[in-house]
Amino acid sequence: DIAGWHIRLENDVSDTEERESIMTRKQKKMLIRILVAAALLIALHFIPVAGIPRFVLYLVPYFVIGYDILLKAGRGIRNRQIFDESFLMAIATIGAFALAIYEKSGDYNEAIAVMLFYQIGELFQSYAVGKSRKNISALMDIRPDYANIEVDGKLEKVDPDEVAVGSVIVVQPGEKVPLDGVIIDGTSTLNTSALTGESLPRDAKTGDEIISGCINMTGVLKIRTTKEFGESTVSKILELVENSSSRKSRSEDFIAKFARIYPPAVCYSALALAVLPPVVRLVMGLTSEWEQWMYRALTFLVTSCPCALVVSIPLSFFAGIGGASKEGVLIKGSNYLETLSQVKTVVFDKTGTLTKGVFEVSAVHHSPLEQEKLLEYAALAECASSHPISKSLQKAYGKEIDRSRVTDIEEISGRGILAKVDGVSVAAGNHKLMEQLGIDFIDCHSPGTIIHMAVDGKYAGHIVISDVVKPNSKKAIEQLHRAGVTKTVMLTGDAKKVADSVAKELGVDEVYSDLLPADKVEKVEALLSQQSGKAKLAFVGDGINDAPVLSRADIGIAMGAMGSDAAIEAADIVLMDDEPLQIAKAIKISRKCIGIVYQNIVFALMVKFACLALVALGAANMWAAIFADVGVMVLAVLNAIRALRVHNL
Ligand code: ADP
Ligand code: MG
Repeated sequence: DIAGWHIRLENDVSDTEERESIMTRKQKKMLIRILVAAALLIALHFIPVAGIPRFVLYLVPYFVIGYDILLKAGRGIRNRQIFDESFLMAIATIGAFALAIYEKSGDYNEAIAVMLFYQIGELFQSYAVGKSRKNISALMDIRPDYANIEVDGKLEKVDPDEVAVGSVIVVQPGEKVPLDGVIIDGTSTLNTSALTGESLPRDAKTGDEIISGCINMTGVLKIRTTKEFGESTVSKILELVENSSSRKSRSEDFIAKFARIYPPAVCYSALALAVLPPVVRLVMGLTSEWEQWMYRALTFLVTSCPCALVVSIPLSFFAGIGGASKEGVLIKGSNYLETLSQVKTVVFDKTGTLTKGVFEVSAVHHSPLEQEKLLEYAALAECASSHPISKSLQKAYGKEIDRSRVTDIEEISGRGILAKVDGVSVAAGNHKLMEQLGIDFIDCHSPGTIIHMAVDGKYAGHIVISDVVKPNSKKAIEQLHRAGVTKTVMLTGDAKKVADSVAKELGVDEVYSDLLPADKVEKVEALLSQQSGKAKLAFVGDGINDAPVLSRADIGIAMGAMGSDAAIEAADIVLMDDEPLQIAKAIKISRKCIGIVYQNIVFALMVKFACLALVALGAANMWAAIFADVGVMVLAVLNAIRALRVHNL
């Protein structure tokens, strides 16, 4: 739940002061431990003690820097999950101590330095993770802390959770809009950048719908809420982001598997390195040189720590998702980022996705009734539908709708509406609905979507409505082709004439019209089976009666601002501002992120195996190995952070 997520964030960065400061308390503590241990190590160089006192003195910096690792290793052994990196660090450093004691060299520097570098690496990594989390929590700043309610002429701050649907709230300049609603008084400009990544302010006036999470910049707005807090846009977004990190991608599965197999493999190799060569040498009649092989085996263990890989991959995904959400593209999990990068076919729904879904009534034909009467029947019958057509008809009617006049409403997806208005049966929909009802209808030759009407079982003419394509739809299709998408397809429940003209205007490769929602699923399944190899198919819709297709496609992309809640639920990716151009952008973001993941995997593994080989051959010592490891980690993490920078893709 969202509250839980909020608390978790609060724990991570426990107060505002700390959120603003460079390091968390935990990181500061670690930095102090590192400095103290390093200072002690240097100081000990100048203290001329030998034997047991010397050993005891050197234990002090060792414990200062490594006590938590030793505890973790101990806990791992107790829980029978031995082979983790703490265990590797513990036995390698204890081994280094043991060797120094055995050789009576008194050189304990190595063991301590190894711990020291390891902790420096850990600190660096936690700093980097914290930084990218801060980017996500910047997004979290959309969470409103209160809502203003007017009581006896005074404003009272209440918890947004306690505001009932239909209440009137007041949002002052500079405040966040806490709940979704409709503006009933006031004009203002809104900053929606936290939601959509769009930096241009938007104008808002009386009558407009307004979504929570925007910032009111100039005027005072009175808003009648249309949703509870839990159902409002802000809550939905927070929920999405909360869950995004729990869905693992295949690259992350790879890491999980790797993390299971790798440590034991390394431990057994180290054991073999310590035992086999001395035994073989003894058998061949040579001196065993076992101290040297023991040292190599310990170095091998220290070198093996795969921190760079284990850290940088989830971090890259985290950064990719964070960067995308700043641009108004919400990605529900790292697995979708991976799938998105392989998309070759993009299938669109027409209404509300490529077109605005805001229809204008352009004509009424063949009606025995007055135009106004027909519109009244249509608007009333449509009063409960969330389809864009219904909204337009209600707007064209323009009068208050008295829902009590309407009964027996039945919405037939992809066809239309049946209802009783003042006890008279009314049907409003396409030719399929008329055929289903067995009513003779008159075809229309005007371009546009045709809503046939039947009143009291008799044909009552048709309303011609027309939709316009979104200004950037054509460009969006072009950009997709340029980004390597090989096929674009448009599916629609609308008539062939309208569909074909829109498809031609936009340059879509294939178009299928007159589809019922179930036919859309079938079409998408057919397209899915034509896919070859790794190529993936994305479906983009507004979720109004296409939620099943959204979940059936390899990846479902929903229009978030206009789309229904069902769409946001069913989709894997949500575009906050309904802008089709964002699809190509999302694909580019995912490609960049996945590219970084692979670079890191290859780079980290190559350096790691090279170091292990050098150590086994005796060509590198512990210092070199540690430096290589920290270096790789720093580079991998810096590379991962690049995934956040996606604004100019
Ligand atoms: P699209 O695939 O373009 O999003 P839909 O599947 O939502 O279209 O709808 C297909 C057709 O069904 C519409 O063009 C319209 O003719 C008819 N229709 C669907 N819902 C309604 C409704 N609520 N009122 C009238 N007609 C509707
Ligand atoms: Mg639709």
